[in-house]
Amino acid sequence: MKRIVLLTFSLLTLVSSQASAQDLMARQAPINAKLRAIDSVAIRQLHKVEMFENPAGELYPDWSNEFVGYSQMPPAEYRIDLRDFHMPCDSRVVNSHYGYRRQFGRPHYGTDIKVYVGDTIRAAFSGKVRIVKDQGYRKGYGKYVVIRHSNGLETVYGHLSKHLVKEGQVLRAGEPLGLGGSTGRSTGPHLHFETRLVGEKINPEKLFSFEAGDIRGDYYIYRRAGNSQLMAAHDVNNLPAVEKEVAESKAEESRNFQQQKMERTNRSLVYKVRSGDTLSKIAKKYGITIDRLCRLNNISRNKTLRPGQILKCS
Ligand SMILES: [Zn+2]
Repeated sequence: MKRIVLLTFSLLTLVSSQASAQDLMARQAPINAKLRAIDSVAIRQLHKVEMFENPAGELYPDWSNEFVGYSQMPPAEYRIDLRDFHMPCDSRVVNSHYGYRRQFGRPHYGTDIKVYVGDTIRAAFSGKVRIVKDQGYRKGYGKYVVIRHSNGLETVYGHLSKHLVKEGQVLRAGEPLGLGGSTGRSTGPHLHFETRLVGEKINPEKLFSFEAGDIRGDYYIYRRAGNSQLMAAHDVNNLPAVEKEVAESKAEESRNFQQQKMERTNRSLVYKVRSGDTLSKIAKKYGITIDRLCRLNNISRNKTLRPGQILKCS
């Protein structure tokens, strides 16, 4: 939150310094227009910060590095936007597929991609690193990383020879997270790659063609009932009316939430007094009355301002 206030503050100072160069009479209207523009910039920025600070926060019960899986189930249906995908490695050779492996008598919850020791392993989507751990010599994933993405997915990268990220780190799609290796239960260098939705494993090859280095569709509509499907962005926009209504009310809900949050942020909007500032000048800048400015700051109208003083302005 502090960061957002600072951002709003710096944007406002930017506008006010631009505005002060303008003709006094023409000042008011452009400032209002600019403030509106800033509002939407700030909302977008807020959304961005939220996306990265707490990716898919509405989907997950908590943020913890304890387990890869969750005790709760994913929602009955969830739309996963795949368009931000980046190949986790340069290699496009799949060594072993997802599913039951008869020779080992146990399931395999990921796709194994052939890599060499030291190959760069990259984040498949933008997100935040949730787990950086080592399961130990010849055990499980060995050195591994789990990232939570804003599209709802979590991805797991196993058998790394080296970690290049820390827990809590924010990554963009394609940024390095480690080096390929053969740590843990592995018979040779490869990347064990998993895709999960609230712990539920999804066959990565249903989402991506590793051979082509690309996604299979813009969206993956996950359905717990088992009838998940891929969808092009165009079709997602043309979903049947009922589903669209739900999507719209969700979007509306989210807009209201952002708006409320923005208002809360605005409430703590502050201004740093500069030499030559007067109460009337500052009040005008923020579109409020001098009385209101005084009330907000518990000061009288004839109070002398000193440069550097911080005033609440909304
Ligand atoms: Zn594997």
